[in-house]
Amino acid sequence: RRRSLASPGAATVQADPLCLGRVGSRSPVPRRPRLPSPVRLSSEGVFKCPEDQLPLDYAKIYPDPELESQVLSLTIRCIHSEEGCRWSGQVKHLQAHLNTCGFNVIPCPNRCGLKLQRRDLPAHLQHDCSKRRLRCEFCGSDFTGEAYETHQGACPQESVYCENKCGARMMRRLLPQHALAECPKRTQPCAYCSKEFVFDTIQSHQYQCPRYPVPCPNQCGAGSVAREDLPGHLKENCSTALVLCPFKEAGCKHRCPKVAMSRHVDESTKAHLGLVSALVSRQRQELQELRREVEELALGCDGTLVWKIPDYARRLQEAKARSNHEAFSPPFYTHRYGYKLQVSAFLNGNGSGEGSHLSVYIRVLPGTYDNLLEWPFSHRVTFSLLDQSDPSLSKPQHVTETFRPDPNWKNFQKPGASRSSVDESALGFGYPKFISHEDIKKRNYVRDNAIFIRASVEIPQKILA
Ligand SMILES: [Zn+2]
Ligand SMILES: [Zn+2]
Ligand SMILES: [Zn+2]
Ligand SMILES: [Zn+2]
Ligand SMILES: [Zn+2]
Ligand SMILES: [Zn+2]
Ligand SMILES: [Zn+2]
Repeated sequence: RRRSLASPGAATVQADPLCLGRVGSRSPVPRRPRLPSPVRLSSEGVFKCPEDQLPLDYAKIYPDPELESQVLSLTIRCIHSEEGCRWSGQVKHLQAHLNTCGFNVIPCPNRCGLKLQRRDLPAHLQHDCSKRRLRCEFCGSDFTGEAYETHQGACPQESVYCENKCGARMMRRLLPQHALAECPKRTQPCAYCSKEFVFDTIQSHQYQCPRYPVPCPNQCGAGSVAREDLPGHLKENCSTALVLCPFKEAGCKHRCPKVAMSRHVDESTKAHLGLVSALVSRQRQELQELRREVEELALGCDGTLVWKIPDYARRLQEAKARSNHEAFSPPFYTHRYGYKLQVSAFLNGNGSGEGSHLSVYIRVLPGTYDNLLEWPFSHRVTFSLLDQSDPSLSKPQHVTETFRPDPNWKNFQKPGASRSSVDESALGFGYPKFISHEDIKKRNYVRDNAIFIRASVEIPQKILA
């Protein structure tokens, strides 16, 4: 049977039409044709007609040139019409069209592995194809797409601006040399202080650079000196600098260049010696004053003196050997800014107690605050010889005497400037028979060969305040 031929619009048309044996009766050609896709080989090696499913005899299939030319003259649309190709033409021209059809999918001619519609090829070849060939506009070299991308921005022939923004423009290959040696904006270490500077500011930096060598303004011949060392040089090392005599502390005002100083020292020995000895005596006076002030500061000022007399046995022997031997306590103040007092003891007695008793006296010394105080000195004084017995074993029994100063006693008047130790105004007031030599041996008045004498002064609260 003859198949009715499809009008233009059939999606696919076979380029090689065949006739089937059942239709015509021309001598069969035992040729294995390219089979039309709808025709399937059955399991028995027999074709089935796609239209009616009846079996076909392979041996009876033969080409039909007449039908072929008929078929090939049919008008059809491009196989890519659905994608947008508007071509239509005779079947026989389809292949030629597909060779140029923009919608036909073809492999990239650069063998990059991609398949794409022909119409996309120019863009692919120009921009995307990894195997495309490109020419660098600067150096003229040819590259594949991949290599070109790495070459871009690195071509040694490309003209670029200096990265230091000095404004210079040159081929990239010249940049390193420019940056190293020519660029006015390159950084460079100062040859003197080693700090980094932009090249065109180094010149002005060197007007301030602390290490820049400058000549000595005194032309001393020392050569150049680093700027920051110049003041030190002028003061200490420059041979023309004026220096002071090493005896300046002693008062020599001589001043001359350093080189001439040793001659001055040699020539002025006598004068220098005089200055030094005057200095020594000034300093000795100062020392005495200082010692006085220190002693004053060290004095007690709470109105109580506890005076230890060590080495009692030997001192008693000494007192027996030299009559009227008086021992003095450290001075003390009755209160802050108060009267300055001193206790004295005759270990072998004095006056009515001589040879048999310990005598104890108190005297007023010239003090710093005398002009601020009331005179005569009139506050109650208590003397005690302390019992050194252990208080936890028995209650200590101190020997105690208290008296109010006699206002007529000369020593209790305001001390005058003329007071001297032989003057009776310097005599103390107290007890010639404070304790007898027998009684002092009792209890623990003498312990570890030492006695303690306590003197305390009662100062009324209103004076303290
Ligand atoms: Zn097409
Ligand atoms: Zn490609
Ligand atoms: Zn290049
Ligand atoms: Zn530059
Ligand atoms: Zn510098
Ligand atoms: Zn100098
Ligand atoms: Zn001198």
